Amino acid sequence: MPITGSCFCGAVSYTIKGRLRDARSCHCSNCRKAFSAQASAYALVDPEDFSWNSGKDLLTTYESNNGAGLQFCRLCGSTLCGTHKGEIHGVTLGCTEGNPEIKLSMHIFVSDKAPWETLPNDGVPQYEERPPALS
Ligand SMILES: [Zn+2]
Ligand SMILES: [Zn+2]
Repeated sequence: MPITGSCFCGAVSYTIKGRLRDARSCHCSNCRKAFSAQASAYALVDPEDFSWNSGKDLLTTYESNNGAGLQFCRLCGSTLCGTHKGEIHGVTLGCTEGNPEIKLSMHIFVSDKAPWETLPNDGVPQYEERPPALS
């Protein structure tokens, strides 16, 4: 089964024919703002596996100065994917549908978590910062 995803209003949707990898939840202050949440939930995708089904023209890209970007639906504000130098890099797990066949495998930058967040006691490894192996 391919992995599918869509935004809150449903105008933008995508299909991934391969697998996601390196699913992580980042608790840093940048991710809290970018994901409007206590942490990110994000997994990497191979660009050749990813295609937009609908609403590509509704995407707005916010690119920060290191070449990393986020693409969101300009109608409803859902952030669907991350880009690197203009190419798809990963997807936000919150916009996937059904079971994307991956689970979060790391909490990262937990030393920078929000004072109002209680870290989950879910057995998933927690890293103070970015683990060296992570791309
Ligand atoms: Zn939308
Ligand atoms: Zn982060």
